[in-house]
Amino acid sequence: MKEHYDIIIVGGGIVGLTVALLLAQSDKRIALLDKKGCIESFNREQYDVRVSAVTPASVKLFEQLSVWDNMVALRVSPFTHMHVWDGDGQGKIQFNAASMGVNELGYIVENNVMLQVLWQRVLAAANIELLNDIDLDYLQRHEHNSNIELHGGDTVLSAPLIIGADGAQSWLREAAHIGITERDYQHHALVCTVKTEKAHDKTARQRFMPEGPLAFLPLGSAHESSIVWSSAPTHIDTLMQLSNDDFGIALTEAFQSQLGAVIEVGPRATFPLVMRHAKHYVQSGLALVGDAAHTVHPLAGQGLNLGLADAALLAELVLQDYAHKNERVKYSTLRRYERARKADNATMLAAMDGFRHLFGNDIPIVKWLRHRGLNLTDRLDFIKSLILQKAMGV
Ligand SMILES: Cc1cc2nc3c(=O)[nH]c(=O)nc-3n(C[C@H](O)[C@H](O)[C@H](O)COP(=O)(O)OP(=O)(O)OC[C@H]3O[C@@H](n4cnc5c(N)ncnc54)[C@H](O)[C@@H]3O)c2cc1C
Repeated sequence: MKEHYDIIIVGGGIVGLTVALLLAQSDKRIALLDKKGCIESFNREQYDVRVSAVTPASVKLFEQLSVWDNMVALRVSPFTHMHVWDGDGQGKIQFNAASMGVNELGYIVENNVMLQVLWQRVLAAANIELLNDIDLDYLQRHEHNSNIELHGGDTVLSAPLIIGADGAQSWLREAAHIGITERDYQHHALVCTVKTEKAHDKTARQRFMPEGPLAFLPLGSAHESSIVWSSAPTHIDTLMQLSNDDFGIALTEAFQSQLGAVIEVGPRATFPLVMRHAKHYVQSGLALVGDAAHTVHPLAGQGLNLGLADAALLAELVLQDYAHKNERVKYSTLRRYERARKADNATMLAAMDGFRHLFGNDIPIVKWLRHRGLNLTDRLDFIKSLILQKAMGV
């Protein structure tokens, strides 16, 4: 079987679904391929163990796609304050929405809320064809078209534009021989939902310890938070072995009882943390977005937001090309996308590396400078506002 499309998107995660919906605003025929089968289902009784801090810039993108209201209807959790402090609490910095003249700094959104709403919209889009449970075999590149072979060559799909949104281990990136710069952060992240004695007051909190950061992200109910604890793989393995009670005690202690005792612990999951940056985001007729192009330490909650910014810019430029009646997206258009997004993403990757080294260092002079720097910055409203604008994606 051979099928021709205008655009093939490989990967139906949050970024792939978003870029598909943005491009579906044209009259182009789009295929969206994913190796997984079913739509992630939302469970009102239980928070998804995977959540993301979503910036106002990403919310705006979801609003443009008219999917934000549906996400709100399922469940999103706004946060209005952020507290960040250094190991022993001598250096700290606080941010609040009112100082920025906004109602919230961002939202904690369960990944399966975003996936469910986006999937539903994709299913309803007349010009997107969903192909689930697919097994990709081979990529063949021609001057004006690419062919993708599925299921041992039974099916061949072709299109002049192929977009890789297939995550950190991107098949398309490898098949197109695009290299990456890769560095193991030497951290694993442990995530889970917890209940605490004290209410979180819509405040996202993060403690930086020399071993790695520990974040409590406020969920919709006042006593529930989603935690991200990044530390050495051996330490995370030890934490995973603990009983719920013992893990609660270790967590309460590591978080310096900021929200009182941790009284309930949900299922725990871990993720290895690796920095990856694709050497190229584009080739003629091919582009990478989201984790396929870059992965970053979750300490500032930016990975998905960067991916959504990739999706927004790529779609905007591609739609402009189509509006000029170009049958094929020009290579120069794809290069414009690459130049803009690669520079932005590289800045964020470097900033996260800087943070990790600064806070993962216990040398006394570095510690002193860190405390002084944090406390000084906390008093400089102008600098704080600049930091916040970057964090909010403004
Ligand atoms: C612990 C942790 C906390 C995080 N917290 C935040 C946060 O607070 N804020 C934030 O912005 N980001 C955060 N991130 C990052 C964020 O989760 C990712 O950047 C984001 O999910 C990437 O989305 P994506 O759609 O690019 O990739 P994925 O979510 O990886 O989606 C890829 C899709 O491609 C499909 N696929 C893969 N291979 C193939 C194949 N061969 N064929 C077909 N389909 C394929 C997969 O099935 C999947 O559906 C966090 C990450 C971690 C690990």
